[in-house]
Amino acid sequence: MTLRIDVLSLFPDAIRQYASTSVLGRANERRVFELHVHDFRDAATDVHRSVDDAPFGGGAGMVLRPEPLLGTLETTPGLAHPVIALTPSGRTFNHELARDLAGLTGFTLLCGRYEGFDQRILDVGVDDEVSVGDFVLAGGELAALCVIESVVRLLPGALGNDESSVHESFADNLLEYPQYTQPAEFRGMTVPEVLRSGDHGRIARWRLAQSLYRTMQRRPDLIERRGGLSEQEQDVLDEFQPLDAPRANG
Ligand code: SAM
Repeated sequence: MTLRIDVLSLFPDAIRQYASTSVLGRANERRVFELHVHDFRDAATDVHRSVDDAPFGGGAGMVLRPEPLLGTLETTPGLAHPVIALTPSGRTFNHELARDLAGLTGFTLLCGRYEGFDQRILDVGVDDEVSVGDFVLAGGELAALCVIESVVRLLPGALGNDESSVHESFADNLLEYPQYTQPAEFRGMTVPEVLRSGDHGRIARWRLAQSLYRTMQRRPDLIERRGGLSEQEQDVLDEFQPLDAPRANG
């Protein structure tokens, strides 16, 4: 089943252009997902095609009027559900939510601009609100593309090798282990011996240990979320030391 993603935006070309390159472009060609981008200015009802107006009660900036967005939501044939608005005050997007969205038949993303959405759009047209982090972007397009890319790369057939997304950061609430490629020695820094040993069992245990060390150090909240360490995980920590990765800037 092809995942259907609808996006409502005032900058549809920004979405289409990025989505036509690299991983998303190839996944789209392979019909792993289908993208429908709608310029909600097309549903503006006045002669100036205006989509925004000054906020009631005063204040800086402009607010998105309800008619163009709700009009587009209500008249687009086959529009995917749920409808998700990108807002800084939504729940924070993460790998778990990406996985949930990848399991649906489709979803719609609303990209705000200016000072954001009239509350009535969120009240009657939207099922969920999602933020990509505690910072403010000028518009929802980059946020929508973050959501789309992270979801699509979880779909079967999206990546060259479906295993690629299985062992990455946040799968199983762990950060990824350190990765190395050629040359085996670079400016006096050598690739850990275990990775050159050819012993795949030992390599897997070393990688798990390094994932655990890195997550414990950088994101102890993730370890807590997975309910601490199992006996097997404790064993690999006993077997391997944490890696002291040298940094160029000290
Ligand atoms: N006045 C809004 C506030 O303080 O929450 C910020 C509006 S922002 C300048 C314009 C649009 O960018 C928002 O409506 C939203 O669609 C998008 N946006 C900005 N930051 C975002 C974030 N962290 N996550 C998701 N969308 C964001």
